[in-house]
Amino acid sequence: MTEARAAYLSLGSNLGSREETLRKAVRQLAAADGIKTLSVSSLYETEPWGKKDQPSFLNIAVSLQTTLTPEELLALAQAVETELGRVRHERWGPRTIDVDILHIEGVERKTPTLTLPHPYMTERAFVLVPLADIAPDLVVMGRTVEKWEKSVDDGSVIRVAGPEWIES
Ligand code: AMP
Repeated sequence: MTEARAAYLSLGSNLGSREETLRKAVRQLAAADGIKTLSVSSLYETEPWGKKDQPSFLNIAVSLQTTLTPEELLALAQAVETELGRVRHERWGPRTIDVDILHIEGVERKTPTLTLPHPYMTERAFVLVPLADIAPDLVVMGRTVEKWEKSVDDGSVIRVAGPEWIES
């Protein structure tokens, strides 16, 4: 792909030095070949979802311009997960780092390895609240992110730092 497209990612961590892990993940993404501009949301703390007996998460959203194909961007996201998640703790337990692709401008995919837009992105407050910081007017699945965000219960997603968290 030669022309850059906008892409939106969701990152979460609930183990170890969560903020430092997210900072490293953002820096690795920003420095990767094929990634142009990158901007980052405020930092949010979220109660664990589903399995409750685990530490709370820190969540962010990232938007970027990329010349990578969707499959190349997935490979990059997984390389960052592998690099920062190398220290294995309990199996099936909490995550050092999770990187999901939410949406890539103009792309719909449903393959065994990649579904775009991400099928759960319109249901999860921990995805929508950070994304609404950086892309409130983005339309996914027929509605703006801001509207999707208003449709979910965001009571368990607490803003803990503004977008300057990435600089510290
Ligand atoms: P998880 O680590 O539980 O988020 O799941 C990762 C798996 O989901 C990988 O095997 C990916 O191939 C697959 N996957 C499907 N769609 C996506 C997406 N939009 N972003 C990230 N991973 C995806």
